[in-house]
Order: sequence, then structure tokens, then C-alpha cells
Amino acid sequence: MQRVDIAIIGAGATGLMVASHLENKNALLIDTNQDIGAKIAISGGGKCNITNQKLSPKYYLGDLNFVKQILSKYNNHTLISWLKSQGLNPILQKESQYFCPKSANEILNIFRKNIHHIPKQLNTKVLSVDKKNNRFVIDTNRGQIEAKKIVVASGGLSFAKLGATDIGYKIAQKFGHKVNRVRPALVGWTLQKEQFFFKELSGISTFVKLSTANKELEGNILFAHKGISGPVILNASLYHTKGYITINFLPNFKLHSIRNSQKQLSTLLPLPKRVTKALLLSKNIPDKPIKKYDTTKWQEINNLFYSYFMAPAGTFGYSKAEVTASGIDTSEIDPKTLQSRLCKGLYFGGEVLDITGELGGYNLQWAFSCGYTIAKGLNSV
Ligand SMILES: Cc1cc2nc3c(=O)[nH]c(=O)nc-3n(C[C@H](O)[C@H](O)[C@H](O)COP(=O)(O)OP(=O)(O)OC[C@H]3O[C@@H](n4cnc5c(N)ncnc54)[C@H](O)[C@@H]3O)c2cc1C
Repeated sequence: MQRVDIAIIGAGATGLMVASHLENKNALLIDTNQDIGAKIAISGGGKCNITNQKLSPKYYLGDLNFVKQILSKYNNHTLISWLKSQGLNPILQKESQYFCPKSANEILNIFRKNIHHIPKQLNTKVLSVDKKNNRFVIDTNRGQIEAKKIVVASGGLSFAKLGATDIGYKIAQKFGHKVNRVRPALVGWTLQKEQFFFKELSGISTFVKLSTANKELEGNILFAHKGISGPVILNASLYHTKGYITINFLPNFKLHSIRNSQKQLSTLLPLPKRVTKALLLSKNIPDKPIKKYDTTKWQEINNLFYSYFMAPAGTFGYSKAEVTASGIDTSEIDPKTLQSRLCKGLYFGGEVLDITGELGGYNLQWAFSCGYTIAKGLNSV
């Protein structure tokens, strides 16, 4: 049996950050994939959206005080400084998002360089973990590994084809941790039959405001073959669990300013014409010269475009979801080190925890901040 001081389960964003910051430790990095950082490699459309200039706990779902404590130890500035010291200058795009200049491989190469001295056991799937005589015994498809401490950095359930498994939740439960009900997030929605007409708008994207579960979001909605997607929907899927959402299709337009126009409604609305026509048709409202609508119809038109009411049918599922929302409850984890309060030597970090960020680099930043916190904790003992 192989024996190490620290076994890191998962060579994704969290595990790589831990491994990169460990000082003189006898550690082993384990992953089911044949290479490190499979998700990083495809993240951000292949350019890895590393972090966000607007980093703040308010872009996360979970215990925001816990988020604050982790981000205060390692934030977007410390991350960028570290990357710069390693020769990578992230570039700012889409207002506030930092990406690798050329490809995600640039950040992966930094990790490769920093962890070259750490033994890796790739193509190795962790099946279970037990604790015997104060040592963790890790059962894998390639034999057992004994470790004094383990770092669970095994991520969530989305994108199983990139190695995702539920092992992190199983380990947490085994050692008495509560795991809150997980669900796919940052994912598109399927439609109820009342909105099936959206499918005919497939490929069209337009800027909207959306309200759900006490959250006001804005961004583009993308009508897709399977349902609706686009940044505003992906972010809404993080907060929305059930019930109705409201979409404002004309967030920056005052309908009353055109009330007396002789022109057709669809020619004056700042929306793709096909969207206007499809919405009107769905409520049997004719597209006609605006002045000719009576007061009742005009009110219906206002409701239709400013507060379109709908309930999503479901999501596109884990195979399309960028993240898994919810996870291991953070109340039993020490935010100073990310060590379990229930089992000494057991650490958790990254997406496996019940903390999830919006689109825009918040999830990788979370994983990197967790990884740094864990490494610091391990270095101090
Ligand atoms: C398509 C896509 C694009 C994304 N783009 C971005 C982006 O641009 N910016 C952003 O902030 N976030 C992005 N995300 C989300 C982000 O990648 C994750 O939140 C982040 O990688 C989580 O880091 P982690 O270390 O917790 O888990 P992961 O990076 O998922 O790493 C977990 C590792 O554990 C391994 N593992 C799992 N189970 C086992 C097991 N039983 N045995 C051994 N190994 C195991 C996995 O193979 C994996 O390598 C994207 C996600 C997807 C799916």
C-alpha cells in the first residue's frame, strides 16, 4: 500500500492550487482523468475565465459570510498577482472578466510547472475513504492509498464525461457531514408547453431583465432549440428552484413614448421583430398601428413585454450544467483552514462545498481561493 502524508483527491482547480502552494510536504495528487485540469482546459470557451474584477460575495449562493472569509484571504488581486509572477498576464474582456490571453493551457502550464515535484496518480478513481488507526485509507480502482490527511477537491456532478463523480459528497457523509440537496446550475431551461413557441426563435438573443427568487438579473436570453439559455438564464438557474420567473423584454424602453404612433408595434419595439411577433401571437394580440390599440389591449401589451410570466419546466441537466449548486454544508467546516470540524485531517474545497458562483469567473476564483486556504492551513502544521 502506498503511504503519504497528504492525499489530494481531484486535480482540478482546487486540487492544483493546493498542490502548487504546499511547502515541503509528502503529498500525492489523485485524479480519475489521464491529465490534470480537464475542466479548466475547456473553461471559458477554451480561454478560461479565471476571475472577475467585480469579485464580491454577492455573486455567490451559499453562506456569504463563509465566502467572505475565504475570499478575504485570497481574492482576484492576489490571484492575478500570483499568475503575473508566474508569467501569465490575464486579459480583461466582457467588461470585468479575466481570461488567459491565448488559451486555458497557459494557466494549466503554470500548474504543471508548480506541481512537477508532486507525485501524481492519474487514471485513478477514488471509490471510498475510511479512517483506521488515525489514518485515512483510500480505496481506488488501482489499489489502496494510506494518508495522514486528505483534501477532498473532487468537484461537483456536472460534466461527468470530464471525470465528475459524487465521491466528495460520499466522503463528507461518511464522516458525518450534512450534504445539502445538489442540482444542476448555470444551465439552460426546458419549457412548458405555453412557451413551446420560443423554440421557433432558436438562435435569437436579446437583452432582458429577469426576476426570480428575490434576485434581479440582467443580460442576454438566448432562444435555443431545447429551450432558453444565455447568460441571464444561466445565472437565474443558480437562484431559481421552483415557481415563476418574470422577464422584462424592454428593460431600457418606455412604451408610453410610442403610444400615439401610427406605426406597427413590431417596427418600433427595440426587439428582434420575430420575438415581438411571436410574443404578440402567443396572446392573440394583433400587430397593428399602435394608436389603434384600445386601453385594455395597451395594458396587456405592457404586461406582456414588461412582465412576461413563465415557469421553466426543468433544466438541460448535469451534462450541460457548468456547475453543481449546493453541496457539503459549510457550517461544519472551519473557514480558516477548510478543515472539517467533525474529522481531523479532512479538508474540503471548491465546488463540492455548498457555495456556488454566478457566471464570470466566480467559480474558478472560489476554487483557487479554497485551494490557497487549504495549502496555507496544511503548511502551518
Ligand atoms: C464547460 C464548463 C466551462 C466552465 N467555465 C468556467 C469559467 O470560464 N470560469 C469559471 O469560473 N468557472 C467555469 N466553470 C466552472 C469551473 O470549471 C468549476 O467550478 C471548477 O473547475 C471547480 O473546481 P473544483 O476543483 O472544485 O472541481 P473540478 O475542477 O471539477 O475538479 C475536480 C476533479 O476531481 C476529479 N474527480 C472527481 N471524482 C473523482 C474520483 N472519484 N476519483 C478521482 N478523481 C475524481 C475530477 O476528474 C476532476 O479533475 C466551467 C465549467 C464547465 C463545465
